[in-house]
Amino acid sequence: MAVTDQPRSYAIRTYGCQMNEHDSERIAGLLEADGLVLADSDESADVVVFNTCCIRENADNKFYGHLGRFKTLKEERPDMEIIVSGCLAQKDRDQIAARAGHVDVVVGTHNVHRAVELLHESRRNGPITEIWDEALDDEATFPSALAVRREVDWSAWVTIQVGCDNTCAYCIVPAVRGREISRPFGELLTEVERLSADGVREITLLGQNVNSYGRDLTSARRSLEPSSEDAAIVGAQWLDDRRARPLFADLLAAVSNIDGIDRVRFTSPHPKDLREDTIAAMASNPSVCPHLHFPLQSGSDRVLALMHRGYTAERYLEKLAAARAGIEDLAVTTDIIVGYPGETEEDFERTLEVTAAAEYDSAYTFIFSPREGTEAADMVDQFCDPAAVADRFDRLRVVVERSALAKHMARIGRTETIIVEGPSKRDPEVLSGRTSQNKLVHFRSDRPLRSGTLATALITDASPHFLRGELVEVLSVSRHRTRFAVTAG
Ligand code: SF4
Repeated sequence: MAVTDQPRSYAIRTYGCQMNEHDSERIAGLLEADGLVLADSDESADVVVFNTCCIRENADNKFYGHLGRFKTLKEERPDMEIIVSGCLAQKDRDQIAARAGHVDVVVGTHNVHRAVELLHESRRNGPITEIWDEALDDEATFPSALAVRREVDWSAWVTIQVGCDNTCAYCIVPAVRGREISRPFGELLTEVERLSADGVREITLLGQNVNSYGRDLTSARRSLEPSSEDAAIVGAQWLDDRRARPLFADLLAAVSNIDGIDRVRFTSPHPKDLREDTIAAMASNPSVCPHLHFPLQSGSDRVLALMHRGYTAERYLEKLAAARAGIEDLAVTTDIIVGYPGETEEDFERTLEVTAAAEYDSAYTFIFSPREGTEAADMVDQFCDPAAVADRFDRLRVVVERSALAKHMARIGRTETIIVEGPSKRDPEVLSGRTSQNKLVHFRSDRPLRSGTLATALITDASPHFLRGELVEVLSVSRHRTRFAVTAG
């Protein structure tokens, strides 16, 4: 490796979900702690990280395509180093080095905190693949404690649990992320307090199944004479009662009461585990956003059973009704898979009915793609006809957009509180902000507004995917140190 006065630079390509984006922030934090700086582009970076996903087929196809292109770049610049991390690294292991000999480090989901150490090791000994089958220490289980370089200064993700104890037949997560482990309650509160002191005003609690947070924080982890470590695990208020433990509702209430935190979001809850106390905590803590992401996956009981989702369509709609009854002005979004193996036209019609009944604000709809290593991937003889699936996908989109548009039109004339995110991606003359319901609002402002600013906007127009409005008032400017001002014409 050539030695220059310039610090080496890095770039990270992230595939997949928010959990992965948060892991990328951690890897960025580790690289910056090692003296690297953010590169202007992926192509010019000295260290390129591919933080991969294997949940959806197109994410892994995309990754192998991008990785292939970096082979030529590396031939031109042999100093370039390439790290592959994330779910696909965990699943494919040695296959990545076999398919792409230009990769320097392959690191899995349980040892992401070792990424930089492995990079140093690869400089001494050549390419290295290190995958752990499970987290071997606390640092590995909860790498949230690592230095993080956040993408946005006023908003932060906080991992509250890792892994998943469910067995959804299409999902590779339990295999690549392991059993569900809740992050200690006291430690989470300390992290959110630190984030607030740093100027963060919005946090998103992350987990594969946030509603089951705390189930593993049992009293067995506490002794008769509790120590400060016990208090950090379960929270001081539960130490006197050895049967009690903090659950997700307690966590929501506790973090939403931390000074300076204006908005608390979370993703994703599993419908079967949504409890009344979570609904009550959302309803009674104003900083918890009135937005519930509630993954349906299918409206057919037969398909839900094949998927091992643990609820029926009727039970799902009952829980949704309870959430809407309990939480004022609740926005609801969902995930739906179209063309699950064995899905008939009749099954799909049930999905259309439940989708219409649920009146979603928006939905992430996916065409089923088999993930190797899952039960669903083995149901080859029941895979659906692609043309029928494409047709179903379009019909579902129409139903989703109908309710989304109706929900959005109903907001015209209202004054919404938004947090400014920055210039709109399509038109830099326009600013974008987000409401507590997680709706995007595009608006014009005659003055510069920093990202993170809390403001109000009058909603003047709506489409299925966003709202348009006019700035009414700036409520409070962002407390974080902004590197540049966001302006609009
Ligand atoms: S709840 Fe199901 S879909 Fe979600 S991570 Fe767990 S196994 Fe996967």
